[in-house]
Amino acid sequence: MGEKLRLEGVIKSFGANDVLCGVDLSVDEGEMVCLIGASGSGKSTLLRCLNLLEPIDDGRILLDGVDISEPDLDPLPVRQRMGLVFQSYNLFPHMTAFENVMLAPRRVLRKSRAELAPGVESLFARFGLAAQMGHYPDQLSGGQQQRVAIIRALAMRPEVMLFDEVTSSLDPELVGEVLDVLRLLKSEGMTMVLATHEMGFARDAADKVCFLDGGRILEEGPPATIFTDPHEPRTREFLRRVL
Ligand code: ADP
Ligand code: MG
Repeated sequence: MGEKLRLEGVIKSFGANDVLCGVDLSVDEGEMVCLIGASGSGKSTLLRCLNLLEPIDDGRILLDGVDISEPDLDPLPVRQRMGLVFQSYNLFPHMTAFENVMLAPRRVLRKSRAELAPGVESLFARFGLAAQMGHYPDQLSGGQQQRVAIIRALAMRPEVMLFDEVTSSLDPELVGEVLDVLRLLKSEGMTMVLATHEMGFARDAADKVCFLDGGRILEEGPPATIFTDPHEPRTREFLRRVL
C-alpha cells in the first residue's frame, strides 16, 4: 500500500514555546497510527497542523505526495479530505443528529437533501444509530453523541480521519462503543491518525505507535515493540506511569 501522509521535519512554535521540534512521520494508506505521550507533548498540535488548522513554521506535509503545507495553498479542499474529530463533540443542540450530520455536506458539497440523505442514513445504520437519527443531542448518551460527531466527519467522505482523544470525555462504560467505531473504520480501510490515552486500544488496534516527547517522535514502531520492549528510557518511564 502506498504512502498517504508524510511529515518531514515539521516545526511549530507558539511564541517562544517550541511545540513541534522536527517531526517526521509516514502514514500508509489504510494504516492506523496512534500518537501517545504525556499531556503537552504536542499530539493535538500535530493533528491540527495536519488538518491545516495551524500553519507550520518549517518542514513539509505531503498528502498523496503533494505538499499541502505551502502557505499560499487554499486549506479548505485539503480539510475536506481529512476529517478531524475532537474530544468535545460540539453538536448543535437545537438540531437532530441527522440535521447535525447533514449541515456541512449541504453547505460545502452543495448537494440537496435528497442527494445526501441515503448516504447519511447508511452511515447511521453502519454505526448502530439508525434509531437515533431523529434524536436531539440531549436525548443521546455521550458515546452516542461522539459517534454522531464521527458520522458527521465521515459524511464529508474524507480520505483520512484524525481523532484527538475522542474517548477522553466519556464515562468509562461508553468508551468501548466509540473504540468499536474506530475498529470498524479501520477494517474498512480508512487511513487514521489518533491521539489517544487508551493504551489497551493502541496496543491491539494500531499498526504503528508513535511516542511523542517534547515535540519529537522519540520512538515509533509496531505496538508489540513499543509496549513490550521500548528502547528509549523515556518511553519506558511514560508507559510505567500509564499502564
Ligand atoms: P497534547 O495534545 O500532547 O497534550 P498540545 O499539542 O495540546 O499537547 O500542546 C503542546 C504545547 O503547545 C503545550 O505547551 C500547549 O500549551 C501549547 N499550545 C497548544 N496550542 C496552543 C495555542 N493555540 N497557543 C499557544 N500555545 C499552544
Ligand atoms: Mg491534546
